[in-house]
Amino acid sequence: MWNDILGQPKAVAYLQKLAGQNRAPGALLFYGQDGVGKRKAALEFAKALNCEDFFSRQTGDSCGACPSCQAIEKGTHPDVTLVDFVYQARLLLKQDADEDALEKEIEKQQHLSVDTIRQVTAKSQQKAVGPGWKVFIIDHAQTMQAAAANALLKFIEEPPAKTVWILLTTKRAAMLPTILSRCQPIGFAPLSPAQVTQILQATQADVADPARCAQFSGGSITGALQAAQALELLEEGQWNTPQGPTQVAGGLSRTAALARKEAQAVLDVLIQALHTQWAQADESQRTSLQTALVKFEDYKKSIGRNVSPALVLETALMSLDGLNVEV
Ligand SMILES: [Zn+2]
Repeated sequence: MWNDILGQPKAVAYLQKLAGQNRAPGALLFYGQDGVGKRKAALEFAKALNCEDFFSRQTGDSCGACPSCQAIEKGTHPDVTLVDFVYQARLLLKQDADEDALEKEIEKQQHLSVDTIRQVTAKSQQKAVGPGWKVFIIDHAQTMQAAAANALLKFIEEPPAKTVWILLTTKRAAMLPTILSRCQPIGFAPLSPAQVTQILQATQADVADPARCAQFSGGSITGALQAAQALELLEEGQWNTPQGPTQVAGGLSRTAALARKEAQAVLDVLIQALHTQWAQADESQRTSLQTALVKFEDYKKSIGRNVSPALVLETALMSLDGLNVEV
């Protein structure tokens, strides 16, 4: 239900109003950083448009309990399609592929391909199975290659009746102007630390100290969960001891892609800690903190390149010696 989406009152009020009037534009664009509720709001909108409970429908909300709401929650509703890298990986694999193969295929995905978009647009032309709306949600929309975006254009321009496309993106500026001009934009703001804490508590996320993670979250749930993992790595490796840098680096995952993400999350936490300390420091300490901050931005960049994340992280942690940084 809409109550479950915290910190986005403007977007929620607008979508709820549309659902209450049983209408939607052909295409919507939800934009905002990762982990602020775009995907959840898109699914909630799909539920509100298709809910079988009369009273919920009247108010533009969903009941969460009828067969339609439950099917959308489980991802099995025949008229609601969520297109993301998981969806695309499934299309690429044989039906009997196991979980391991699926995980590997998901990790490889960087772009939404023209084949995926064509498969979905063909689906959008078929008759709805139920009496409600057909909803197509495209996550990571900015990763559509030009051919994929072009294949989507005419379908979002004039979708059949009771069909809505919802594009989700973290990088609105990276999208083709021709796509942007056909979508009604809805912005999703960063969350406050209090809202992040509340969501972490409400979802019973496996996070030791929600309020502390919220401080390092950058206003997003994704950020908070990454910070939780980073703090755990730092603590388990006793980062503030002489052996700390080596131990923390040794705690990274073996898979290169995962290790890179984890190392980047650790650097993000430390960069924020350096900023906090800079704000409280006197003039004499500020210069060395500033130098450290510049170096840390470089470390982050080098992890994006083909350098060993463990090596970069170890070097970064060693460079903090004598700065009395606290996390
Ligand atoms: Zn319902």
